[in-house]
Amino acid sequence: MEKKNIDWGNLGFAYMPTEKRYVSNYKDGAWDDGCLTEDDKVVISECAGVLQYAQTVFEGMKAYTTEDGRTVVFRPDLNAKRLKDSAERLEMPAFPEDRFLDAIRQLVKANEAYVPPYGSGASLYIRPYIFGTNPVIGVKPADEYQFRAFTTPVGPYFKGGVKPLTIKVSDFDRAAPHGTGHIKAGLNYAMSLHAIVTAHEEGYDENMYLDSATRTYVEETGGANFLFITKDNTVVTPKSNTILPSITRRSLIYVAEHYLGLKVEERPVPFEEVKDMAECGLCGTAAVISPVGKIVDHGKEICMPSGMTQMGPITQKLYDTLTGIQMGRLEAPEGWIMEIK
Ligand SMILES: *Cc1c(COP(=O)(O)O)cnc(C)c1O
Repeated sequence: MEKKNIDWGNLGFAYMPTEKRYVSNYKDGAWDDGCLTEDDKVVISECAGVLQYAQTVFEGMKAYTTEDGRTVVFRPDLNAKRLKDSAERLEMPAFPEDRFLDAIRQLVKANEAYVPPYGSGASLYIRPYIFGTNPVIGVKPADEYQFRAFTTPVGPYFKGGVKPLTIKVSDFDRAAPHGTGHIKAGLNYAMSLHAIVTAHEEGYDENMYLDSATRTYVEETGGANFLFITKDNTVVTPKSNTILPSITRRSLIYVAEHYLGLKVEERPVPFEEVKDMAECGLCGTAAVISPVGKIVDHGKEICMPSGMTQMGPITQKLYDTLTGIQMGRLEAPEGWIMEIK
C-alpha cells in the first residue's frame, strides 16, 4: 500500500478530506444498501430535522498501523453499540451494528493510503454520524436520515511532549439528570461551546463539570472522562448516568485490573476527594490519557503531586499498556482489535 505523501508528524487535529466516505440513507422505514462515494458534500432540505432541532448523533474512533504493518481499528463494536444507544435516545433509527462494522471496514480499506505509518504517532480518525434529513418544522423526529462516515488523518496528540493540563471547575452544566449526557449527541457539544470558550479566555485548557443536581460530584469534561489515581495506587473513575461511557476509559479500567493488577473503583467521586488524589487524567480516543496537572475551583488551586511536566507514574503505565495493545506491541484481549484486510 503506497501511503500518501503527508508530513504525518506535523498534522494537527483538523479536517482534511480523504478520497472516500461511506453513505447510507434511511427512507420509508429502511436503510438502503449504502456505498462509498467521493462526494464530500451533503445536500439536504433547508428545513431538515438536523438543521432545525439538532437531531444528530456521532462517534469517533481511530485506525492506525501496528508495529507489524497491519491496519487496525480499536474496538469498533463498542462504537457501533454506542451509536445505536445514542440514536434510540433521540428517536432516530439505529444503524445496524453489523452494517456499521462493515461500513468502517470498507471505509478504512478505501482510505488506507491515509492511515499513517507505524511510529509516526499519527492516526486516521473516523467520524461516523447519523442526522435527520427531511423537512421538519413542527417538533417531531425526522422520517428520513443519513448515516455517513468519513476519515481524516490526525497528528500525534502529544506533539512536542506531554503537557499536563490546567482545568477549572465550571459554573456551567454539561448534562442534566435524566437528560442526554450519556449519549454522543451534537447537542451536548453545542451547549458546551460557550463554557469552553470562556474557560480558554480565562487561560484554562478544559472544564471539569460537576453533577448539575448537587454540584458535589465529579462528572467529566466536555469530551473526556476522568480517571484518578489515589495515593495507594487505586484507579478511581466517576460513575454517573449523566457521563458519556468512554470506550477508552472502559478499556483503561480493564488494563488496570488485568494487565497491571491494580485495584479499580467505579463509583461516585465527591469533588472533596480530588485534593487527596495522586494523579488525574482525561481519557478519550483523541489522547488515550492526557494528564491533568492542576484543577482550579474558584481560585482554590489543587496541584496534582504528579506535577506540570510529565504524566504520573500510574497514568504513564496505563498509557503505555493501552497504546501497546493498540499498536500490536502487547497482546490484546479477545475481540479488541479489528484488522482491515
Ligand atoms: C466521545 C466522548 C468521550 C470519550 O469517549 P471515547 O469512546 O473514549 O472516545 C468522553 N466524553 C464525552 C462527552 C464524549 O463525547
